[in-house]
Amino acid sequence: MKSIKAVIADDVQSSLTLIAKTLQDARIQCVPVNSPNDAIAVVQSDESVRIVVVRFQAASPDACLLASELRKFRTADELQILVVVPEGQQAQANLAVRSGADGILFEPFEARELRMLVGISIDSRSRRVDLSHRGTDSESEPDSKGHTMEVPAEGSVLVKPRFDSATLRFSYDEDSEVVQEWYRDDRVTRVPLDQVMVCPECSSLPTFRHGCPHCGSAAVSREALIHHFACAHVGPVSDFRKAGDLVCPKCQLHGLVAGSDFEVVSGNYRCDDCGHLSHETELIGHCLACEHRFSAKDAVLLPLIGFHVPGSRLESSGPRLSGTQVNAGQKSKRVRTRTASPLTESSSPLAR
Ligand SMILES: [Zn+2]
Ligand SMILES: [Zn+2]
Ligand SMILES: [Zn+2]
Repeated sequence: MKSIKAVIADDVQSSLTLIAKTLQDARIQCVPVNSPNDAIAVVQSDESVRIVVVRFQAASPDACLLASELRKFRTADELQILVVVPEGQQAQANLAVRSGADGILFEPFEARELRMLVGISIDSRSRRVDLSHRGTDSESEPDSKGHTMEVPAEGSVLVKPRFDSATLRFSYDEDSEVVQEWYRDDRVTRVPLDQVMVCPECSSLPTFRHGCPHCGSAAVSREALIHHFACAHVGPVSDFRKAGDLVCPKCQLHGLVAGSDFEVVSGNYRCDDCGHLSHETELIGHCLACEHRFSAKDAVLLPLIGFHVPGSRLESSGPRLSGTQVNAGQKSKRVRTRTASPLTESSSPLAR
């Protein structure tokens, strides 16, 4: 099991204790060092060090020098540098950030602030890993940033729906009777893993784009409008263009100068396919399995449920031919039902 480590260079005992305890609570192993020089040595020799916390007024080299030294061989993605700065010393904080620090802890700070800094950094730098989208072979392994996945209780196995790239649907490897039995079995715990938007016709995973609310076409563009200050006329730029000049179609003033005579403002979205004008585009789903094109509001919310099944896993490890498709009908609800939506009509240019 790979864990991540934090190096702490802080000679104030109370602060050192708070930092170490907070990080250890988050299962981060702490390595206190006596000087910034020692911190460099530890980081250089140990790749699992992902965090360095250093006091601004630490001994030579100072925190800023330490940060810039560390940045020579560790990027911000590889190593997070936090600097402890005395209250109100904004200039020191600025200096530290310019030298490569990612976060500042102003004294007196609370564990919550440190957790937030470390947490935010970890979240923003790593892909969200959730149970429903991971492979099946590493359920209890922490990922490279030290996040530990939910570990099933002793002797139980977490069974998750698997995404089949051929059918574009989620399914369990087990037969439907087995899955139905899990729903009834008190010893089996249900784990909500995720909720995905699927095709209302066939439960496959659709693609999405911003498009025309009327016909669903993605060929929408926003018109640029000219607002003529003098007469208050607002119209498309094309209406103002006349033989290399800009002429207001309302008051006929010509030689208009941008900024002093007019401003350019964004107009409506115009659909190139049906000509529909709208203030906003709409999220449009397109199912690659059945070619259904629909408003995302009509997508079906499909909960992905995992099962903690006691006892050893059924002998099958790979995908099986007879599986159970996760259906939208069973445990999901429609987001919204629209009647006579142009998007669902076969006349829609893209809903073949
Ligand atoms: Zn349209
Ligand atoms: Zn005008
Ligand atoms: Zn479909």
